[in-house]
Amino acid sequence: MIAADLIVWAAGIKVPDFMANLAGLESNRINQLHVNEFLQTTRDPNIFAIGDCAQFLNPDGSRVPPRAQSAHQMASACYTNIVALLNNKPLKAYKYTDYGSLVSLASYSTVGNLMGNLSSGSVFIEGRLARLVYVSLYRMHQIAIHGIIKTGLVMLGGRLNKWLRPRLKLH
Ligand SMILES: Cc1cc2nc3c(=O)[nH]c(=O)nc-3n(C[C@H](O)[C@H](O)[C@H](O)COP(=O)(O)OP(=O)(O)OC[C@H]3O[C@@H](n4cnc5c(N)ncnc54)[C@H](O)[C@@H]3O)c2cc1C
Repeated sequence: MIAADLIVWAAGIKVPDFMANLAGLESNRINQLHVNEFLQTTRDPNIFAIGDCAQFLNPDGSRVPPRAQSAHQMASACYTNIVALLNNKPLKAYKYTDYGSLVSLASYSTVGNLMGNLSSGSVFIEGRLARLVYVSLYRMHQIAIHGIIKTGLVMLGGRLNKWLRPRLKLH
């Protein structure tokens, strides 16, 4: 128990140790595998690395952050490139697009900034609008994994539970 009014979690990420020098692949200080612009590992073009376990450098030398949206975008690019590789077609360079961030503070509030498709900079959003975007994103992820029908049933179950569940814990 840590008694505090406000806690800031600042733990970094580190890839498991077994990834360092995995099959002789090039890795960095936190065991991420170095990848080229096509997401192929630098020492073996038939091995791709995406998401948190990959170190991808943008053209300006900055790193793509270990976040869900980068992992998602890398997955799509990796799929395209594996298909291209199998068909002896040219591979497409991966490009990270930052669409912004959202932070849900439970029932208290939701805040975030949206960018990417906007012509100038980012837009700060909060309250109901931010909550709506957050929930929509969450449902999109559920649909991607479970499909529309199952997600619809999960939503319906949630609604029914909200109505049926007793306010007190019953034994
Ligand atoms: C608490 C928390 C909050 C976060 N919040 C956000 C956020 O708000 N927004 C955001 O964009 N990102 C957020 N992130 C980061 C985001 O979750 C990651 O960047 C993203 O999940 C990376 O996706 P990935 O597929 O690379 O890895 P993961 O999603 O971690 O998937 C890796 C998978 O590999 C499996 N695995 C591990 N070892 C082995 C093994 N030896 N054999 C087989 N399988 C294995 C794991 O079980 C896991 O399923 C958050 C992360 C944490 C921890």
